[in-house]
Amino acid sequence: MNRLCDLLSIQYPLIQGGMIWCSGWELASAVSNAGGLGTIGSGSMYPEVLEEHVIKCKKATDKPFAVNLPLLYPQIDQHLETIVKHRVPVVITSAGSPKKYTSFFKSHGIKVLHVVSSSAFALKSQEAGVDAVIAEGFEAGGHNGREETTTLCLIPQVAAAVDIPVVAAGGIGSGAAAYASLALGAEGFQCGSVFIPTPESSAHQNFKDAIIAAKEGSTKLTLHEIAPVRLLNNPFYQEVVAAYNEGANVEELKSLLGRGRAKRGMFEGDLQQGELEVGQISAQLDKITSASEVVARIMREYNELATSTFQCF
Ligand code: NDP
Ligand code: NDP
Repeated sequence: MNRLCDLLSIQYPLIQGGMIWCSGWELASAVSNAGGLGTIGSGSMYPEVLEEHVIKCKKATDKPFAVNLPLLYPQIDQHLETIVKHRVPVVITSAGSPKKYTSFFKSHGIKVLHVVSSSAFALKSQEAGVDAVIAEGFEAGGHNGREETTTLCLIPQVAAAVDIPVVAAGGIGSGAAAYASLALGAEGFQCGSVFIPTPESSAHQNFKDAIIAAKEGSTKLTLHEIAPVRLLNNPFYQEVVAAYNEGANVEELKSLLGRGRAKRGMFEGDLQQGELEVGQISAQLDKITSASEVVARIMREYNELATSTFQCF
């Protein structure tokens, strides 16, 4: 009996996180077919691209899947229309207040999960009527909470604060981490970075290879003044460090970031000047494997731990 599996009609309490430029229909459908919940990352998709990916995803799987919707997306009304028109079963909202659209989605029979980085935001999400919260800690790639709370500290606090199911995220790429997150009070776990070096991810091959090469300390959290983001330490990151050392203000940092950095790095494979968003788990990844193998490995490791007897003290 697992409330998240029941809520989402999935076999395993494993959600593939929506990642801009990296998670299109191919990855989402592969994860859903493997027994988890696959997610299309819509933040990087123009409205017609999202519609194409939703149509392809529905053709590739008859299992539930999700669309991740950053609430700051500029053409959000068109994304909402696509989600409702094509009866997307689950929406994962992030980067904005869950008050605005939760009741709209629920009135269309769509399950809503919201990404939070603190207990206070988790409580607000529960009050807004979301079905579950995804609590994402400091280890996660891409945009990160201002509180900088690690997953190990965040999950028990969020689980104590709300009654709805909590999904742990940030630093989860193994069955052991998944097991730990459930021990901390989560009822499911979300994995993002571990799904980038898969053939099904739409990330550029250069980015996948850079993740395989990443070591401990290869990712950094920066640009706190704009929106904290965890990324690979590359020449672009070094330019950001140099700008900080020269006392750059927010406007100067924004102009250094410019437009479309994430696309350039993650989708076009510019490892020098692109923004390469990935989590600390990248240090543990050493080969490209299919998305279904990733799901099977994590669940095998999880089940081995769950059926083994830990030493009692
Ligand atoms: P492709 O567009 O390269 O196509 C992959 C497969 O989909 C091919 O087999 C192709 O068929 C088929 N296909 C392509 N376009 C269409 C269409 N309009 N209708 C039906 N089938 C089609 O890759 P994706 O499907 O992965 O991506 C589709 C679009 O989304 C591309 O423009 C891509 O750049 C973009 N994209 C955006 C992402 C983002 O985060 N913003 C992430 C991933 C992709 P055939 O063999 O006949 O060409
Ligand atoms: P930028 O402002 O640097 O660039 C916008 C990028 O988004 C471009 O690469 C553009 O593609 C693409 N894009 C897709 N749809 C649209 C649209 N309707 N209007 C304008 N651009 C669009 O943003 P980032 O790359 O830093 O972020 C991209 C998106 O990621 C954001 O729009 C937001 O939705 C999402 N995001 C999510 C966060 C979260 O979930 N926490 C946090 C921050 C961003 P092209 O280059 O082909 O024009």
